[in-house]
Amino acid sequence: MRDVDWDLLAACVGGASFVGLAVYHAVAGYLHYRYYVRRRDALESWKLQPERFLTPELHRLAIRSGTRNMALSGVLTGVLVYAIVSGSFDPPIYTEIAGASGWAYTIGSTVLLFVLMDYIAYWVHRALHTRLLFRRLHRFHHRFVATTPYVAIALHPVELLALQAATLTPLLVIPFHAASVAAILLYILVYNVVDHSGVRLTSALPWQPPSRFHDDHHAWVHVNFGQHLMIWDRLHGTLRRHGRRYGPEVFGGRGERDRSDAGEGRGLEPFIRY
Ligand SMILES: [Zn+2]
Ligand SMILES: [Zn+2]
Repeated sequence: MRDVDWDLLAACVGGASFVGLAVYHAVAGYLHYRYYVRRRDALESWKLQPERFLTPELHRLAIRSGTRNMALSGVLTGVLVYAIVSGSFDPPIYTEIAGASGWAYTIGSTVLLFVLMDYIAYWVHRALHTRLLFRRLHRFHHRFVATTPYVAIALHPVELLALQAATLTPLLVIPFHAASVAAILLYILVYNVVDHSGVRLTSALPWQPPSRFHDDHHAWVHVNFGQHLMIWDRLHGTLRRHGRRYGPEVFGGRGERDRSDAGEGRGLEPFIRY
């Protein structure tokens, strides 16, 4: 077994934790200050659930849990980077691009990785909404009904580890550029904060749903499981529909027929347009 290069290990762990914590607190802090502090008097103009707020205890819990998870994730990512750089772990990640075909492959594989990670995240999240896992793990994240930017990674740590391990499995089998992996991880972090902001925001990126999509997940619970693409929920019928009843006790992702209009029509109601 080779010797541990402690300086390199410290640089990898310190660097990954610092970047993660800095991005998380910078984006969350900016959104919090811009809306919850500066525009507190004009809630109706920007807030997604204007009548609901986190209690001060829950707000502090979100910051504590999010910071702890970001640090944990940074340490694990740093150890992984160290193992790759020092040669003790050898996934097919590459750092040099040769010619036009190299660029074409790098761009194509970046898109592929984003889509794969998003689809895996959809299924992990959907599994977390089964009765057993929801009660044991995921309910922690759903105590935040009206979300704030800090809620993004306020999760049960076991859930965070499972999500991270599952979404990184494509790296073991398909070659991806190191910069593609880093860019996608940053993208996921930034948009997770935006999606939990509780602020009515849309993205210039055509595939990225507005923040209301995930806000509805917190408001209605077992529906809208996707992370950055809505296609998986459309495909599997778990996108929120008009006229159906959802809530903490309605499991399965497809809601229930609203009893008040039982018998009306046979087919499923159309999806909500986000
Ligand atoms: Zn959930
Ligand atoms: Zn959430």
